[in-house]
Amino acid sequence: MMVGFPLLMYYLWGCLQFYRGKLVSPFDNQFWNQVFKSAFPTWYATKMYVLFCLFELFLAYFMPGPIVKGAPVSSLKGRRLDYLCNGVTSWYATLATSFILHYYGWFRLTEIIDNFGPLMSVAIISGIVITLVIYVTTIMQGNQYRMSGHLMYDLFMGAALNPRLGHVDLKMFAEIRIPWVLLFYISVSAAVKEYELFGYVSASMSFMVLAHFLYVNACAKGEECIPTTWDMTYEKFGFMLIFWNFAGVPFTYCFATIYLHNISIDNRQPLQHSQSWTYFCYALLLLGYYIWDTANSQKNRFRMINNGSYIPRHTFPQLPWGTLKNPTYIKTKSGNLLLTSGWWGIARKIHYTADLMMAFSWAFITGFSTVITYFYPVFFILVLTHRVTRDMQRCAKKYGKDWEEYCRRVPYIFIPGIY
Ligand code: NDP
Repeated sequence: MMVGFPLLMYYLWGCLQFYRGKLVSPFDNQFWNQVFKSAFPTWYATKMYVLFCLFELFLAYFMPGPIVKGAPVSSLKGRRLDYLCNGVTSWYATLATSFILHYYGWFRLTEIIDNFGPLMSVAIISGIVITLVIYVTTIMQGNQYRMSGHLMYDLFMGAALNPRLGHVDLKMFAEIRIPWVLLFYISVSAAVKEYELFGYVSASMSFMVLAHFLYVNACAKGEECIPTTWDMTYEKFGFMLIFWNFAGVPFTYCFATIYLHNISIDNRQPLQHSQSWTYFCYALLLLGYYIWDTANSQKNRFRMINNGSYIPRHTFPQLPWGTLKNPTYIKTKSGNLLLTSGWWGIARKIHYTADLMMAFSWAFITGFSTVITYFYPVFFILVLTHRVTRDMQRCAKKYGKDWEEYCRRVPYIFIPGIY
């Protein structure tokens, strides 16, 4: 996977970039020559990427925000770490800064889409270098945790559980501040380019900007719910999370945007769908977003209210049914509560279903002329299936009979009445 992921990224991007999304033979030398030339890392792309990451790190360090306690960490003998949740202020500061940079011509946002290939290479190299640096530093400090003893597996899963730079939790930083923000700016960049070329932004490209805005905004506005998630308390910071967040997410989840951008240049006009198809895509996105946002916030707020870490926030948008009144639950022997009402009484992983609805809407907006824009939803099904399997095993082990009772009360996993 560590070799295959980067190669797959180059291959899919090459097909999009040079063959209108048609899958060509991966054994064609000419194809790889084209990819090599167009995606060769440049100093300019390196400066862009590194300055962006450092700027986000600076914001994560200095911007104001509430401090939230994480869940007890077993490797720290049950100690709860503090997380400075300044995602919203950092996000708005990023938006304002990019607007100023673009408006005054100091950094035109179209540079991102114009330098996509080199930027992707810089991101891939950064993902690999950061993985190695974090791994070696962790071993040197003796902070490794839950190691398997197999070097490749440990590099992939990571050695450190909660590496920090000062008070900034690097894992949470990498999951929230880099991938989604970059993804959003790739779409904004393509939209600005479309406006410059054609004098308007199409409904399809506006869709991508909205879709990526909703995702990054949700991560920022609900950041205080993240410290207690299993990514923070259980997953380690290895290639899987580092590479995927620094390179994989931004540079593959954007394939729909890249396709729309390339097609508009080839056809000398943006892709147009029928009105009904466009409305369908928007409706699927917004419905998926609503379920996803409220399901995540119902569970996280329920947990936070019960463990005393809840802080009411007025970040935009606060949706109806985001907090449950008088929820029902199972009190487990371990002391944790399992929610059985709201979305969590309907299906055990309905937020995954909702996330997939959004993922498919991102692909549907590109039509059906290429399979590459379906990479994200298909890949995401695999990711989520893998996560569900691991999570269910973990919960069954952790909660025993209580988990069986929960599964009896909420029998469906993804779609109520079906599966
Ligand atoms: P969940 O939010 O489903 O968290 C699972 C954990 O929640 C369980 O281990 C358990 O932890 C707790 N839990 C399970 N059921 C209940 C319940 N009924 N009541 C209370 N607590 C419960 O998983 P993720 O962290 O994987 O996902 C969070 C969000 O992130 C999802 O919406 C997902 O779609 C999204 N995501 C997106 C990705 C992307 O690439 N776009 C990748 C991964 C996730 P405990 O031990 O505390 O009880």
